Amino acid sequence: MVRLNEIRENEVAITPPETADAHIVFIGRISTPWTSRMETPRQGRPDGPVCTIEVFEPWVQALKGTERFERLEVLYWLHQSRRDLVLQSPASNGEVHGTFSLRSPVRPNPIGTSIVVLEKIEGNRLFVRGLDCLDGTPLIDLKPERSLFKPIAPPQKGDFATEPVRMCKKIDE
Ligand code: SAM
Repeated sequence: MVRLNEIRENEVAITPPETADAHIVFIGRISTPWTSRMETPRQGRPDGPVCTIEVFEPWVQALKGTERFERLEVLYWLHQSRRDLVLQSPASNGEVHGTFSLRSPVRPNPIGTSIVVLEKIEGNRLFVRGLDCLDGTPLIDLKPERSLFKPIAPPQKGDFATEPVRMCKKIDE
């Protein structure tokens, strides 16, 4: 079941520390077909319905060049999420997982990210596929999808720094 705000068996909520405001600015609004969290996809898909991202002034001129990218990364604020769970039970079966091992919308800073397919841009509106958020979700940022982007600025020393790679051991190995 999709969470509204209930706590499930074995889940753990904490009292969050006093917040330090990072001055996140909502730069637009996302329109989707979904008005209930019970219907919204768990993850967007590239053949999902076309959704609209409206960018507000004074940010519209920042869209210059986005039309060159077939895919964009979208960051959004999952504004209806609770923010205080450290252990969560996505399957509601008593088995809990750490918040940072999940892509659940319930997290200290409820930021969602999706890779979307850009269909077209009309003025301040982008038409995209691949979202999984509620209608009216606030927009935080847009970036070219990482694999399509080559830095334009010249490289810096750190770009050439390498170390032998040792794979992270998986917990259940
Ligand atoms: N793709 C993003 C990610 O991986 O960061 C978000 C994934 S999250 C599992 C998607 C779910 O968040 C949806 O199925 C819905 O239940 C919930 N959701 C979507 N929009 C929301 C919003 N504005 N506020 C709270 N929950 C939202």
